[in-house]
Amino acid sequence: MEKNPETVDILAFGAHPDDVEIGAGGLIAKETSLGYKVGIIDLTMGEMGSRGTPEIRAEEAETASRILGAEWRMNLKMPDGGITADNENIMKVTRVIRTYRPKILLAPYWDDRHPDHIRTGQIVTEAHFKAGLRKLEPELKAFRPSIIIYYFLNRIESLSFVVDVSLHYEKKREAIGAHYSQFGEGGLKPLAVLGVKAPLQFIESRDRFYGAQIGVAYGEAFLVRTPVPLDDPMKTWGI
Ligand SMILES: [Zn+2]
Repeated sequence: MEKNPETVDILAFGAHPDDVEIGAGGLIAKETSLGYKVGIIDLTMGEMGSRGTPEIRAEEAETASRILGAEWRMNLKMPDGGITADNENIMKVTRVIRTYRPKILLAPYWDDRHPDHIRTGQIVTEAHFKAGLRKLEPELKAFRPSIIIYYFLNRIESLSFVVDVSLHYEKKREAIGAHYSQFGEGGLKPLAVLGVKAPLQFIESRDRFYGAQIGVAYGEAFLVRTPVPLDDPMKTWGI
């Protein structure tokens, strides 16, 4: 069967145009460098941000997505600060999942201080389930990705695994830096992002901390709701 040219291997969802960079930028850069196709979907334009306009933020998001090697980036234009996990929004995401048929979904961890992050996690979780229901809107073929991998923004309570992103950390830094209106230097006072006044240091310290947990320079932590299969513990810990 001919493969739909639009399909991607990984679909990464964020509430705001810098979320996926912060939580999973290293993983995305790593997977695209391995040849996997990644699409990025932001639910809002980030228009409630204290700095930057939707147009500026869209340009920054596009630059960041090129740095990470993503195939494309799309915006569903839900209201920033007012995402609701209603049926209309869940179905929008369900259709996107069925169209691009990724094996893995990335979404923000559902327990976070920002309500938009919570709702985005909820919407993707429900859309993942609905995308596999054959009798629901059957004109678009049902498809359920293998797993949702949740990334962290404000809070990490428990995690399932840490991915070594050391070799791709510079790309993560660059991609976050592309969101100049949010993280800009040049005399601009850093904004409180993720509720902290020094967001870049916060993100980097956290990634160093999780890297150290697995004995590498930089790591990103993730959560999945099923046990993580391990083929051979000797391969992981025996060498
Ligand atoms: Zn956000």
